[in-house]
Amino acid sequence: MTDKYAVIGNPIAHSKSPQIHQMFALQTGQDISYEAILAPLDGFASTIARLRNGAYKGCSVTVPFKFEAFQLATQLSKRAQAAQAVNTLKFDGGTIFGDNTDGSGLISDIQQNLNFHLKARRTLLMGAGGAAYGVILPLLGTGSKLSVVNRTFENAQRLAEVFLSQGNIEIFRYSELGKQAFDCIINATSSSIAGELPPLPHGIFAPGALAYDMMYGSETPFLKFAREHGAAVVSDGLGMLVEQAAEAFFVWRGVRPETAPVIAVLRKQQ
Ligand code: NDP
Repeated sequence: MTDKYAVIGNPIAHSKSPQIHQMFALQTGQDISYEAILAPLDGFASTIARLRNGAYKGCSVTVPFKFEAFQLATQLSKRAQAAQAVNTLKFDGGTIFGDNTDGSGLISDIQQNLNFHLKARRTLLMGAGGAAYGVILPLLGTGSKLSVVNRTFENAQRLAEVFLSQGNIEIFRYSELGKQAFDCIINATSSSIAGELPPLPHGIFAPGALAYDMMYGSETPFLKFAREHGAAVVSDGLGMLVEQAAEAFFVWRGVRPETAPVIAVLRKQQ
């Protein structure tokens, strides 16, 4: 019997997840279906209840429901607990297992696909929202020297307090970045969605630096700025999207799909 999965979000029509998981299923010979489901903004819990009654095995969770999914899960992975957000749910009898694969997806894309190693490198994470929380623990795990900058400084302070026991995180206001340079700058803000660029100073990229925008699709203002201000490697978040999906597929099916051919297909469509 075909096992059913879905991605839940609002909006959801743009989602590439059904295509990604269908390619994974074909490649690994797993008999699954995977569809995109639009949940009403006030109807996440009822949508999950419907899926569980309909014998779905699990789902991906995207904007804006990752925090609600965290609350709804009856069992959490360590990385979901740290992220305080869930992007992968697995239904197993009476248990709703919540995981967060975003951070692992980011690290795989940077270190394996882009071959950029973060150990002892100075990394600046821009943003202190859901995406930032999801990647902090895996970033600290690489041995990178981590700094966070955020528009609302209090949110950066809160983030640093939450992760205090996990490692040292230096926090900045944008106005304090003047004389700093970083080997890797990751944009985990939603500024690109609005076509905006956080106020980064000119000398922010160290020689050989990587600029990574979690958003994917057309070139963002951050990636344009990075190209013009000395970043050696520039990447959008398409690889992260495919890598986090592969990790979710592994959580559900116990099989790890190849990501490179899937990324190549999606790149051709861009
Ligand atoms: P949130 O709404 O939780 O957080 C938004 C963050 O962006 C906050 O820190 C906010 O700062 C900051 N911000 C927003 N606008 C600006 C601006 N104009 N200048 C500076 N900072 C700004 O969003 P998420 O964390 O959930 O998502 C962030 C991005 O990450 C999205 O683009 C999302 O699509 C992407 N993403 C990509 C993934 C992938 O697989 N490629 C996976 C997950 C997320 P403040 O605190 O001041 O409000």
